[in-house]
Amino acid sequence: MTAESSEPIIALPPRAAKIGRRGHPWFYADDMEGLTLPKNALVRVHAPGGRDLGLGMTSARSKIALRLCGPWPGEGVPTPQEFLDQHLTRAIAQRAGLNGPTAGVRLVHSEADGIPGLVIDRYASVFVVQSTSAFVEAHLGLIAAWLVEHFTPSMVLMRGDLPVRKREGLPEEVRILAGEKVEEVEIEELGVRHTVRPFDGHKTGFYLDQRPARTRVHSLASGARVLDLFSYQGAFSLAALAGGAKEVLAVDQSQPALDRATAAADAQKLVGLTTMCGNAFDVVRDLRSSGKQYDIVVLDPPPFCKTRREVEGGKRGYRDLNRIAMRILAPGGHLITASCSYHLRPEVFEEVLRQASFDLPFRVFLEERLGAGTDHPAWIRLPESEYLKVRVLRRVD
Ligand code: SAH
Repeated sequence: MTAESSEPIIALPPRAAKIGRRGHPWFYADDMEGLTLPKNALVRVHAPGGRDLGLGMTSARSKIALRLCGPWPGEGVPTPQEFLDQHLTRAIAQRAGLNGPTAGVRLVHSEADGIPGLVIDRYASVFVVQSTSAFVEAHLGLIAAWLVEHFTPSMVLMRGDLPVRKREGLPEEVRILAGEKVEEVEIEELGVRHTVRPFDGHKTGFYLDQRPARTRVHSLASGARVLDLFSYQGAFSLAALAGGAKEVLAVDQSQPALDRATAAADAQKLVGLTTMCGNAFDVVRDLRSSGKQYDIVVLDPPPFCKTRREVEGGKRGYRDLNRIAMRILAPGGHLITASCSYHLRPEVFEEVLRQASFDLPFRVFLEERLGAGTDHPAWIRLPESEYLKVRVLRRVD
């Protein structure tokens, strides 16, 4: 690529066009030889024969020079305002059943909602934005104004403390785009109140993507003894208690996170929660040695393989943990096991679970395959948008 141009219609060079036919919507700068792209802009993308491939978004500093956004009516290129207004309106309409004044919900899920590099999570009156593309970054003002106009938020926060921003030439920073500073906000799910810390909570403050698995745990929990491994601030533990669990043990290496779980349970008079601060690998081994058994084990670790190179080591970690987790299931018990490592593909995760179960003295059924909720849609052309895998296993004697 050479100097910048303002031409809004671009024809893919032959190599990029060939790669594009596989369906993936990203184009690397190396494959765009000879083409001059306008900088951090919307463009209309044509295949070499002139066939329309819809809108694209360019990134001047990234190795991924062009990301397709999907079809757009007519032949031209909308203004950023038109583009954002149309996509935000559609994304929010699609979440009508999940969105509400006390909701925790992902309103915009990047490419899957047609806006590469934009995530917007709603926590009641607080909106947290993540921007990982230069185009989105340049229009954060418009996005915040749109949210203010449609929702009157107490705060719109930009969480830009993400290492991937470097690849777009964007600084790591956190700043308020609109409203006043809100340190903590409560959301409600399955009749449980969760406290979300927008500035320093994991991700944008909460693991919104695990709603389907929390719902499953809630529905299985009546009378159950539950072990919540890698509990963070106890989102699964609280869902289990609200579902009628008899006792819940939450295990995490972060004492402040466990303290928040206890505080949330106490505030809602949910009884039966015990917490244990420590390395989950050791704790689960000790529990197994002591002969403890659980009706529900939740295993939701951090990603063990963040790159393709880490997959082999990551598989070992998942295998070891799942082996022990299966062995502390009571007869009829359920293991809800998750991996959020994109590089560990679903079939490989299931292979790991098979290996973990090979010498068990009982059978384990794969009862259900879950993933992120419908507010985190997976665009079929972008496998990266489907990263979370949850498997519900049941011990059968
Ligand atoms: N299940 C949680 C999210 C888990 S995030 C939820 O639904 O909200 C991963 C958690 O694992 C973090 O809280 C982190 O503190 C914890 N963690 C990471 N490595 C750990 C280890 N070896 N032992 C115990 N906890 C660990």
